[in-house]
Amino acid sequence: MAKVGYIGLGIMGGSIARNLMKAGHELVVHNRSRAKVEAFVRDGATAAGNPREVAEQVEFVFTNLPDTPDVEQVVLGKDGVLEGAHEGLVYIDNSTIKPETARALAEKLATRGVMALDAPVSGGDVGARDGTLTIMVGGPQEAFDRAEPLFRAMGKAWVLVGDSGAGQIAKVCNQIIVGAQMASLAEALITAQKAGVDPRRMVDAIKGGAAQMWTLDVKPPRLFAGNREPGFKAYMQHKDLGIVLDTAKTYGIPLPVTAVIQQLYTAMLEQGNREQDNSAIVSVYEALTGLRLVENDGE
Ligand code: NAP
Repeated sequence: MAKVGYIGLGIMGGSIARNLMKAGHELVVHNRSRAKVEAFVRDGATAAGNPREVAEQVEFVFTNLPDTPDVEQVVLGKDGVLEGAHEGLVYIDNSTIKPETARALAEKLATRGVMALDAPVSGGDVGARDGTLTIMVGGPQEAFDRAEPLFRAMGKAWVLVGDSGAGQIAKVCNQIIVGAQMASLAEALITAQKAGVDPRRMVDAIKGGAAQMWTLDVKPPRLFAGNREPGFKAYMQHKDLGIVLDTAKTYGIPLPVTAVIQQLYTAMLEQGNREQDNSAIVSVYEALTGLRLVENDGE
């Protein structure tokens, strides 16, 4: 069993850290707001005052933070992971950030004897809670091999995609597909309802066919229950699509469909719905059609 640091105990990080503890690893935790740390301390984890103190005490240190600047700050900033670096430490980032930043951080950490893995995840809040995430990894084989027992506690599949940054490139590809799934689900739900068909029956009818997808299994029950809480916050979906489009620009790749979907999320954020679930993109179509998606207790 390993001594593991976890920084960022939100929707994803909180559940992943719990699963690492359940698997028997010894946890040192840190989070911006203190209440989330206290809950872990009650269950036997050690609290650290800052990322440096986490790194100093552990063999593996994870981050799971909202965006690229947050990860840069926590790793390179004052009292950051780099200041607590020691020979043999493995740094693993579960956040979704820019691939080039993942590469730059890995290079900086390597100068202090630290191996870094970019290891973004997919599977949502449900996958994080159930320990069934998919983990896309970039970095050295040696670090990947050492981290495998930890990945086993968090996920159902973990793949070393390539060198540093390759995990984030895989996540970029994942988010191209997820963005399209969310928008196409919203379009299908509103189309059924506007055409006079109960969208709940429509979902029942199509979910075993060629349109089958994770999003169709997981999101409609929440939407029909009137639950638009995250899950995955809309502003983070928007952030991820920004990373996708930046990456596309870097490599000269036209991504017309993703560009439109990012605009739909811009509209959702401007509606004031940035903290809602990414599936609540249906609100943009509601505004366009004057409909409100049917809810179970609204019958
Ligand atoms: P979240 O619930 O907002 O969690 C982010 C956590 O980071 C919060 O607990 C926040 O603390 C903490 N934090 C922020 N800045 C910090 C800092 N400087 N130092 C220490 N802690 C800090 O977000 P999430 O949904 O877990 O997403 C986290 C990452 O996972 C994102 O990169 C996202 O794109 C990715 N992701 C999310 C999902 C999903 O379904 N939710 C799926 C795959 C990937 P506070 O308590 O102060 O806010």
